Amino acid sequence: MSDSLLKDFKKFIKNKGLKYSPKREEILREILEVDGHFDVESLYLRLKERKSKVSKTSIYRTIPLLIEGGYIQEVYKQEGHSHYEVTLNKQPHLHFICVKCKKVDEISDERLLRLVEDYQKEKKCRVLSHHLEIFGICSDCKEED
Ligand SMILES: [Zn+2]
Ligand SMILES: [Zn+2]
Repeated sequence: MSDSLLKDFKKFIKNKGLKYSPKREEILREILEVDGHFDVESLYLRLKERKSKVSKTSIYRTIPLLIEGGYIQEVYKQEGHSHYEVTLNKQPHLHFICVKCKKVDEISDERLLRLVEDYQKEKKCRVLSHHLEIFGICSDCKEED
């Protein structure tokens, strides 16, 4: 995590009227290292592997905060729980979710980037994050039909 990002994060926590906690910083640090999507369970296991003392409860409490701050976003729900991804420096992409095997594929395309940029210009707004989902049946599952 860069110094400026950490500074921003500390400012954000302070502006929320919350006390700065090293645990929140630890959670954010770990999240920034995740490649792709994560859920509370997988994040907890990653932290545990590092001998971290961060509890699942802390993760559950920190996630809404990180969403509000624009650090992460919820990307999809699977088996009743949410999956997230880092939004910082992330190119617009869409998710193809197979309804049978639950596999998630990420599709990045320049056209998507342009679409978002054009929209921003046209509406004079600022896009913070984007989230596109396509549900279907993947090629592996299709063959089994
Ligand atoms: Zn499938
Ligand atoms: Zn994604």
